[in-house]
Formats: sequence, C-alpha cells, structure tokens
Amino acid sequence: MQTSRILNQPTLVRLMIAIGLLVLPVIAWVDFQKGFIFAATVELAAAAALLGMIFLIRPLGVQRSTRVILVVMAILAILSSVEKLESTPNFAWFTIMPFLYISVGGLRLGVFLTVVHFLFIVTFYLAFARGVVESLESGTWLQVGLAYLTAAGLAISYEQVQRQLRNRLHALADHDPLTGLLNRRGMGKRLRELDGFLRRHQVPVTLALLDIDHFKKVNDEHGHDVGDRVLQELSAELRRIFRSSDYIARWGGEEFLVALTNSNLAASTAVLERLRCEIAASSAFSVSPITLSMGATEWTADLDLASALKRADRALYGAKGRGRNALVPAGDSDHPAVWPAGDVRAAG
Ligand code: GH3
Ligand code: MG
Ligand code: MG
Repeated sequence: MQTSRILNQPTLVRLMIAIGLLVLPVIAWVDFQKGFIFAATVELAAAAALLGMIFLIRPLGVQRSTRVILVVMAILAILSSVEKLESTPNFAWFTIMPFLYISVGGLRLGVFLTVVHFLFIVTFYLAFARGVVESLESGTWLQVGLAYLTAAGLAISYEQVQRQLRNRLHALADHDPLTGLLNRRGMGKRLRELDGFLRRHQVPVTLALLDIDHFKKVNDEHGHDVGDRVLQELSAELRRIFRSSDYIARWGGEEFLVALTNSNLAASTAVLERLRCEIAASSAFSVSPITLSMGATEWTADLDLASALKRADRALYGAKGRGRNALVPAGDSDHPAVWPAGDVRAAG
C-alpha cells in the first residue's frame, strides 16, 4: 500500500489537471504560430475542459469526473488531429490516449486498446503519410514512442493503485477489526452469493450459530481487554478447525456464524461437536474454560436465508435452554437431537 499513499487518486488527478493546464496553452500557442488555427482552438477548449473538471470533481467524484473529462479530451484530440494529418502527427494528443483507454476501459481492455492504437498509428503513417514520416528526424519517433510508453506505464500504475484501494476498502468494510473474521455485512454478501450457487448446483450447506456461554461474566471478572483477547483466541481456533472453503463471521458481540459449504447436517454436526469438545477442553484461552452453545441447520434450497437463520437461531436458543455447552442441530422435526446427551455441563 506504499504507492497508494504517495500517489493517491485525488493527488494524481490534480497533478494531471495541473500539467494539462500548463502544457495545453503552450501547445495551442505553437499550433497558432504554425497556422493551425482550428487545432489551437480545440487545444484551448481542452484546457477549458480541464479547468471545468475542478468544478466537476465535487459533484461527480474523482473517478467519474476523470472519465467524463477523458472522453471530452479524446473527442477534442480527434478533432484537433483532423487539421494536422497532412503535416505533423499529433504527438501531444497521442500520448494522452493510454490514460483514456486504461482509465475508462480498465486494465485489460485499456492495455489492449493502447497497443492497438500504437500499431494503428505506426501503420497509418507508414501506409498513408510517408512524406510526414520521412520529414521527421529519427529521434522524434523514439521520443514519441517513449512518451507513449511512459503515459501507458503511468496509466497502468494509476489503475493498479485504484484497484488496490478499492480492494482494501472492500476488505475493510467486510471484516471485523478485532478478530479479522467477516463481519455481518461481509458475511451477508457471501451468503447471498452462496444462495444463488446453492440453488443452481444443489450443494449442501450448513449454517451454524455459535455463542460463547456466560461471556458477560468473563468481562465482569477479568475486564473488557481480556474479553477481547478471548474473542481473538476463539476466532483463531475457528479458523483452524473449519476449512478454508467455509465462511466464518463474527455475527454479533460474542456470536459467530459459520457456513459449512459442501457439508450436510450430519457431516457438519460431527465437525461442530468436535469443535465444542475441543474448545471446552482447551487451555489455550486467556480465561478457561470457554464453552460454546451452538445451533445448526442445513440450508436447503427450499429455505430462504432469513428462514434458515431463524432456524439456526431457534436451535441455538434450544442449546442455551439445555444448560449451554451444547450443540442442537435443527432437524426436520421440531424435536431436534441434542449433543451431548444427558447432563450437558458435565460433558464439557
Ligand atoms: P449467554 O450464555 O446466555 O450467552 O450469556 P452471555 O453473558 O454470553 O450473553 P449476554 O448477551 O448476556 O452478554 C454478552 C456479552 O458479550 C455482553 C458484552 O459485554 C459482551 N461483548 C459483546 N461484544 C464484545 C466485545 O467486542 N468485546 C468484549 N470484551 N465483550 C463483548
Ligand atoms: Mg453468550
Ligand atoms: Mg449472545
């Protein structure tokens, strides 16, 4: 993320505007001197468009206003080159094109268009404007090529920085800062995706709600910081026990939701029961024993997400009612089996 700090989006955009505002009037002046009145007018219009962007950034946002302005500049670039086709290739404009392609089209399409445009310009001048090619010094071609490559490189890194920022923002928004697990929002998103997948492919998924027993007592007796540490330690245990293809979320304060993918209720019950026993027996926590109450249900295609969650929640409530440190899988009947059988507290 180092680069994103140095070259964040607004800074780069401001830099582009500043360079454009300095350079465009100079180019317009040079064109005016050479008698390209039309091109000079268009270039001044481009400078005005850049100036206008300063007022667009606030209402449209950096991203959208950049795109609007680049499209305007591209239209002006094409207009400006019309007058000059027979004399000098439109180098200054040519070099802004990678920014347009990559910023508007994204990385893959943008790089493709950048290359295609370059090849097009080369073949176009070789085929139709040999006179222009021969009138230029060979160093000029090299300079233009380098300027184009530099512009493409800058545009690519700009796009990558943006992509990193976007990814980082999404990751931050979807995860719980204390435990690093998915938060409610992130889990909600994944469950909605899973919902579609489930219906298409008929894979079994189990939803399990896990709640720490008497957690308030941990806070009251050992302090909130220790409580926080226990939440982190438990999260690490959950990560260790569940597969990487399962989704684990901190669903509420001391409540976790796990989606065990490709796992029916019977298979999931075995995993969850092993987890329940391991946690209750573990001495790895800052406070022990820590025990969990769990409710689990298979999320079948005929159940919408809200109903499946309600079922898991009812099962969890059942586990609390059975004295805690228990797993209740919600079966088809309203009389679910309970683990462990008998005195649940003694089984921890
Ligand atoms: P039960 O067995 O019925 O679940 O009892 P409980 O005490 O675990 O449940 P209750 O809902 O009464 O209390 C939950 C506690 O979880 C209260 C709250 O202070 C604590 N808690 C919630 N979020 C956090 C957190 O981020 N850090 C800490 N340290 N404690 C938290
Ligand atoms: Mg609790
Ligand atoms: Mg709770």
